[in-house]
Amino acid sequence: MERTILVVEDSRTQAERLQLLLDVAGYRVDVASNGREGLERARLSRPDLIISDVVMPEMDGYDFCRALKSTEELRRIPFVLLTQRGAPQDVIRGFQCGADNFITKPFEDDLLLERLQRIFAHLELRQGGRLDVEITLGSGGQQIVINADKQQMIELLFSTLDDLVRLNGQLAESQRVIEDYARTLEAQVQERTERLLQTEKIATMGLLLAGVAHELNNPLSVVKGHADLLQLAVPEGPLAVRARKIGQAAERCTRIVRNFLSLARQYPPERKATRLNQLVHEAVELLGYQLRTAGLEVRLDLAQDLPPLWADPHQLNQVLVNLIANAQHAMREHPAPKRLTMTTREDRARGQVVLEVADTGPGIAAEVQAKIFEPFFSTKEPGEGTGLGLSICRGIVESHDGTLTVRSEPGRGAVFTVDLPAGTVWEPAVPEPATEPAPQAGARAILVVDDEEDVRDLLADLLSIDGHRVDGAQNGLAALDALRERSYDVIISDARMPGLDGAGLYRRLQAEHPELTRRFIMMTGDAMSAPTREFIESARLVSLAKPFALDEMRRVIRQVLGEG
Ligand code: ADP
Repeated sequence: MERTILVVEDSRTQAERLQLLLDVAGYRVDVASNGREGLERARLSRPDLIISDVVMPEMDGYDFCRALKSTEELRRIPFVLLTQRGAPQDVIRGFQCGADNFITKPFEDDLLLERLQRIFAHLELRQGGRLDVEITLGSGGQQIVINADKQQMIELLFSTLDDLVRLNGQLAESQRVIEDYARTLEAQVQERTERLLQTEKIATMGLLLAGVAHELNNPLSVVKGHADLLQLAVPEGPLAVRARKIGQAAERCTRIVRNFLSLARQYPPERKATRLNQLVHEAVELLGYQLRTAGLEVRLDLAQDLPPLWADPHQLNQVLVNLIANAQHAMREHPAPKRLTMTTREDRARGQVVLEVADTGPGIAAEVQAKIFEPFFSTKEPGEGTGLGLSICRGIVESHDGTLTVRSEPGRGAVFTVDLPAGTVWEPAVPEPATEPAPQAGARAILVVDDEEDVRDLLADLLSIDGHRVDGAQNGLAALDALRERSYDVIISDARMPGLDGAGLYRRLQAEHPELTRRFIMMTGDAMSAPTREFIESARLVSLAKPFALDEMRRVIRQVLGEG
């Protein structure tokens, strides 16, 4: 069946092009040059389809379409509007005027013919003829009445709806993902900022503390020392309990100060050949009294012939003290048995030296275990813990190329394991201490050099328990004066003093009393500032960090006297 197409176009070339194209494709073609003419031609020739330009003189495409669609006998003729590409408002306006379909200019010939074929195919499928489809668009409830094929409209609507739903779904999904991501990011940023702020705050506090540590450690030494003395004088009863509590509080202050200091400094390890077993003995001795009074049984299972570690003994001591203090705290309110087991062994296959600190406390739940090495994580009551201990311990162990791990089951205690690479350096100078304290040696003459009178008096009190004779000097110069008067078996000197400090005194002794340099003990009040540390290490001095326990002081005295 031959179809007639009415082409309404004011441009002659465009009209001729369309005419030729449609002719060749087998359509009969009628042409008009504007809307008014088009309307007349439509009445006369009753075409099967109209293709109309938009912009035309006299009557444009929109008016033409509207006039056609409002004429009863013409309105069923499909109206195709030629709109400009990229002008969606033309399509909307065309729809409003009742256009059935659109072809955008410029078009490819093939595409135009294909489109026409589709339109005609659709017309053939159409059964119920045309229907007015009312669509309410937009939130304003603007109503547009479109004369269109029902099927086509429904298809159009559904595909549009599909697109919208899909798009919406995707948008919603993307939005959710983006929001989630933003929230996570925000939380992370906040957490990091808080940590950073906290770390910075701590670092600043640490620096301040480093500055006042000297002053802080002196009164702490005094408190602790007198608590020790009180306990010795009154071994039992309520006074003894009080003395013990004072001593323990001072211990805790000491640990806190040291932790803050190491956080503030973060110095790399200053390594030397270090005996792990000796460190264990020292730590147990340092905390011994506290552990005994807490009713803890301490078991040492130390492998003989351990290779030495190439390590910073002060830092490793800090690790041990922290692990032991944590174990003690964990078992505090836990029923017996309260047992702390410290094991050392060599893992030859892996070239490691292994230390285990095991307790019989309540253990650590899995979700807590995941966090205990984070700085500031603590399950302890406010004021009881800073949450820094384990993170500092891990930091120290890792800076020694080792690992610090935990294994624990709730109800079955906790085991902290330190793995450290075995050192290759052998220094026979480091003596293994006897497991049992050596019997007390005879009374000695000891010169205590410190600028604080309280500290001098305390040391005099402590040392006189063991029958030593003690003199005091307020700085290095006063010490040299005293040495002119008489001789001493041991000199215990503070590192920092006005006038002549500890290092200055030591150098003068090298020149004037070389026999005394082997019996010189350096007391440090600031948990070892770098210069003091260097000096102590290079001169291979025996040192005593304030505040110290009575036992520790006895040990270093035995050590310099060669009685250890
Ligand atoms: P702090 O002791 O100040 O809380 P730490 O970093 O030393 O900080 O310890 C973090 C947390 O790890 C503790 O609060 C505690 O919950 C847990 N923890 C550490 N050691 C033990 C242990 N031996 N037994 C049970 N829990 C422990």
